[in-house]
Amino acid sequence: MDTYARFPISLTRGRGVWVWDSSGKRYLDCVAGIAVCTLGHSDGRMKRALSRQLGKLQHVSNLYRIPEQEELAAAITDSSCMDRVFFCNSGAEANEAAIKLARKHGNTVRGINTAGGIPGGEHSPLILTAQASFHGRTLAAVTATGQPKYHQGFEPMVQGFRYFPYNDTAAFETLLASSEAQGPRVAAVLLEPIQGEGGVHPGNRAFFQRVRELCDAHNILLIFDEVQIGVGRSGQLWGYEQLGVEPDAITLAKGLGGGIPIGALAVKAKADHFRPGEHASTFGGNPFACRAGLTVLAELERRKLVSHVQRMGELLQELLAELVSRHPTLLEGVRGWGLLQGLVLRAEAPSAPEIVMAAMEQGLLLVPAGPQVVRFVPPLVIQPRHLRLAVDRLERALTSLGC
Ligand SMILES: *Cc1c(COP(=O)(O)O)cnc(C)c1O
Repeated sequence: MDTYARFPISLTRGRGVWVWDSSGKRYLDCVAGIAVCTLGHSDGRMKRALSRQLGKLQHVSNLYRIPEQEELAAAITDSSCMDRVFFCNSGAEANEAAIKLARKHGNTVRGINTAGGIPGGEHSPLILTAQASFHGRTLAAVTATGQPKYHQGFEPMVQGFRYFPYNDTAAFETLLASSEAQGPRVAAVLLEPIQGEGGVHPGNRAFFQRVRELCDAHNILLIFDEVQIGVGRSGQLWGYEQLGVEPDAITLAKGLGGGIPIGALAVKAKADHFRPGEHASTFGGNPFACRAGLTVLAELERRKLVSHVQRMGELLQELLAELVSRHPTLLEGVRGWGLLQGLVLRAEAPSAPEIVMAAMEQGLLLVPAGPQVVRFVPPLVIQPRHLRLAVDRLERALTSLGC
């Protein structure tokens, strides 16, 4: 169906940070399937691990114990502040699980809906999310997404969501106080530690610390959507480590499988609310997808990629800051964490999609984050020479646009 405005190339082959189109043209890939291909393309270890897994077992139902799934859950809980994991197949689906978990927390732990509340009425649970957020495209996840353009035409939306401006402590406090004025009402706060699609806005530490305090005071779940920033991309293994607060739950997807679809909701013991039969996924956590996740996490560790991402992030920020200083009338600045960086355009510059298109002609793949930000989300294995080449090609693209 006509769901995507696609660029006019077909990618048919990849190796490391490089991809080739059907005409044989080579591109430096700073998109990585939008923050998915953690280890780059056709990684040798990934190929061997997945081939071996295919020779053993691809899929079995969650009717049975699945050792690869238990092993991946342990790899996540051993390396994070979380205690238990539910597996699914995408970011939106991980957030759906988190939203159901939040509702259950509200209805049971906070007792919001126990007094015979009518659905959607003043005694039903609320979830607070940020404006300009992005949480996916299923009905509840897109309702959680605080961007009206994604709701348009799909109303009625799911009930029980309220929005506030990201990083705005006063606005958050006001919304929380008004929501709780008649008694317990808020089940959860769902936030990206850094907003990705919404324009690469890093979370503010003081804001997140205050949200954490207030959630603790009211027994409200604090859930982080780490679908884009989790699994090493920030320069820490988990996005929450950048903010100095521990959430009660995180959602993961994109980078976790390195290109094999997998999603996850990881929770602390205090938020371990699902009982058998309450949530499920046919494909979720199958042996093949979990082998991919295990391989990604093992390679991050073996190749010391998290500290590599810190260094590469600093270098990319430096190179982009130099580019900004050479084109001060077009470029406003650079912001981001690790290998999620956004080059912010001034109103005088061509739009982000125009720049992305021109970069493609120069052999560089980039992705917009809204109309005024060009986003870099390369494979985590990218090297300094690639980053220099990427910024050279981007500058050539700007020149080709008459900048
Ligand atoms: C991409 C993304 C999603 C949606 O993930 P899908 O796998 O496309 O459903 C959710 N949250 C964030 C922060 C994302 O970047």
